[in-house]
Amino acid sequence: MEFRDDITAFDSVKHDIVGEKGYYNCQISAKLFEILEENGIETHFVKLLEPNKMLVKKLEIIPLEVIARNIAAGSITRNYPIKEGTVFERPIVMLDYKDDAYHDPLLNDDIALAMGIATEKELEEIKHIAIRVNDVLKKYFASIGILLPDFKIEIGRDKDGKLLVADEVSPDSCRLWDAKTKKSLDKDNYRFDKGDVLAGYKEIYRRMFGDPQ
Ligand code: UDP
Repeated sequence: MEFRDDITAFDSVKHDIVGEKGYYNCQISAKLFEILEENGIETHFVKLLEPNKMLVKKLEIIPLEVIARNIAAGSITRNYPIKEGTVFERPIVMLDYKDDAYHDPLLNDDIALAMGIATEKELEEIKHIAIRVNDVLKKYFASIGILLPDFKIEIGRDKDGKLLVADEVSPDSCRLWDAKTKKSLDKDNYRFDKGDVLAGYKEIYRRMFGDPQ
């Protein structure tokens, strides 16, 4: 899997190139996959091949954006009367249908079943995986002074039908806020022109890997 320097938002209506973004996302994603594996959550990650390339297992990707939320931000504050920053005592898991042509609409189990996206058992397992990933990532990011308001993962089936976390886990796919200042260190800086997107990714990298020698 190659991590490119392209950055997109709003169903790719906004598109730019941010130099070095591929490198940072690849390294951050690799480490987060390793942390998930250490905590007993299987992922498609095998090993890093190059600074912006990783070897991953071949999976059949389920067309879902599996989203977990701890603090309200983004679409949940636009679509429901929930104020940004509201802390959810119980994490919210949402399954969106991954298709830009339909603007990734929110699904429920009945719609997902009717569309044949996944079985009932798989849907239960997908939600369970989302909660476990959330527990691990939330704890890890807290240890480096970062809040995890929400994130998106994708899940795929291997040849035996086993479900594994796939795609990437990076500041492109997670909201990550500095715990003290509540400032975004993630792709929202690009989406909403809030600040220097690469500087945020570098700061996350620095907290995860330490200062360069
Ligand atoms: N997300 C993503 N890809 C998408 C849509 C969302 O990785 O196509 C991530 C996003 O970074 C955030 C979470 O999923 O961490 C929830 O996003 P939300 O539904 O709030 O969408 P947004 O407000 O970004 O449109």
